[in-house]
Amino acid sequence: MMNDKNSQKIVDIIQNYARLHSLFVLAYGTGCGAIEIPPTMTSRYDAERFGIRGAATPRQADVLLITGYLTTKTLKRVIRVYEQMQDPKYVIGFGSCTINGGMYWDSYNTIKVLDKYLPVDVYINGCMPRPEAVIAGFVKLQSLIREGKAEGAKLYKDNLEQYRENQKKVIPNWVMPEYNW
Ligand code: SF4
Repeated sequence: MMNDKNSQKIVDIIQNYARLHSLFVLAYGTGCGAIEIPPTMTSRYDAERFGIRGAATPRQADVLLITGYLTTKTLKRVIRVYEQMQDPKYVIGFGSCTINGGMYWDSYNTIKVLDKYLPVDVYINGCMPRPEAVIAGFVKLQSLIREGKAEGAKLYKDNLEQYRENQKKVIPNWVMPEYNW
């Protein structure tokens, strides 16, 4: 007879299998890399073959795709969007600008390292990454989900104070509703 631990493990495997083949994506077009999203989603590269499709609102989305540099002004909106998404949820940082500031590394009002402010599950490097790289990034996310290692949302909850501290350091007029999961 199966014990509770084994049954839970089987449920997790099935849930993760369903999740990874049904990723609803909210593409937040913050930077120039957003131009690669239409070819990724349409017939030439056809991301839907992998179960990847667009979502209309944060409440319906599983993946927040941040497509390039973020200004301090945009960061505030992106945080708000992320916090409206339901669990399980994932973040993909798309383009060198999300990793280290890219060509805006010395700009006075852009964010240099996205995962100081939001939990990034997968980065896609390049300036700008082509659709093949975008799909490879999603495939990486799918393997992390399969292995139960896409834990950004948990990291965010567990370290919320630290994230808030970092966010408030760069966002000038912090007037936001309190955390609302
Ligand atoms: S990585 Fe390059 S393409 Fe992407 S937002 Fe930055 S400058 Fe634009």
